[in-house]
Amino acid sequence: MNSIERDMRYTTRFAPSPTGPLHLGHAFSALTAWDRVQARGGRFLLRIEDIDRDRSRPEFEALIETDLRWLGLDWPRPPMRQSERMDAYRAALDRLAAMGLCYPCRCSRGDIRAVLSAPQEGAPAIGPDGPVYPGTCRGRPMAQAGPDDSIRLDMARAAAHLGQLPSFEETGPIHPGRHALDAAALIGGVGDAVLARRAMGTSYHLSVVVDDAAQGITEVVRGADLFEATQVHVLLQALLGLPVPAYHHHDLVRDADGKRLAKRDDARALCAFRAEGLGPAAIRDMVGL
Ligand code: GLU
Repeated sequence: MNSIERDMRYTTRFAPSPTGPLHLGHAFSALTAWDRVQARGGRFLLRIEDIDRDRSRPEFEALIETDLRWLGLDWPRPPMRQSERMDAYRAALDRLAAMGLCYPCRCSRGDIRAVLSAPQEGAPAIGPDGPVYPGTCRGRPMAQAGPDDSIRLDMARAAAHLGQLPSFEETGPIHPGRHALDAAALIGGVGDAVLARRAMGTSYHLSVVVDDAAQGITEVVRGADLFEATQVHVLLQALLGLPVPAYHHHDLVRDADGKRLAKRDDARALCAFRAEGLGPAAIRDMVGL
């Protein structure tokens, strides 16, 4: 098959971080993506999001693959592994920096909290990454970037650079339809997003955008908790000249008290259900598929 044919096929991915065992919420996400591929005849890809070297563990990666195979899923091996793609993230970061859209930030979380809690500040807006950064380091030249700095995107400059902001198609049940990015929402509600975390060389936002393009993803299937982050991803796609996939944000699986299942909730880990002798049909049933 040539690359043009391949690019036209429906392609989605499941992109877990190997920082713990998969739970029912992950099963719902992976199975939703898998079912959408089966219905359309396309590709299901796996991506291991292991940029957080402190928290990622090879044994969790192995367990993820065992759990997914047990659920009946299959994908081209080996999966994409983010820890092997630092050069691609560096190139994207250099490109954004060359456009004059980045600055080095030396603020710790504590510094940011202190600025935001000053009496003259109102309640800070909360964006997809937490409280909106107050801009303390904005305007510092990239030439001053040190090894302990994070690199941030100057959101106002990025929006101005594009002028006409892009839009994306949401196919999920919660916010269906076409969503145009909005400069005021980006600047006031997201703020200067981190593109490279201190000592990490990249960030979730930057790597996910670079990798969705590299894997030829046509529809991103993931939990509704990442809907607000999507505007950052679509903005980065426009800045980097990458295709904008469709997005399908699904409902989150909740426990009996309506609380979102956390990864460390080991009682709900798929491997625990497997050890009890349950099968994939029981898991599908439990998550309502
Ligand atoms: N790695 C992310 C997670 O485990 C998912 C990222 C994505 O699907 O965009 O929550």
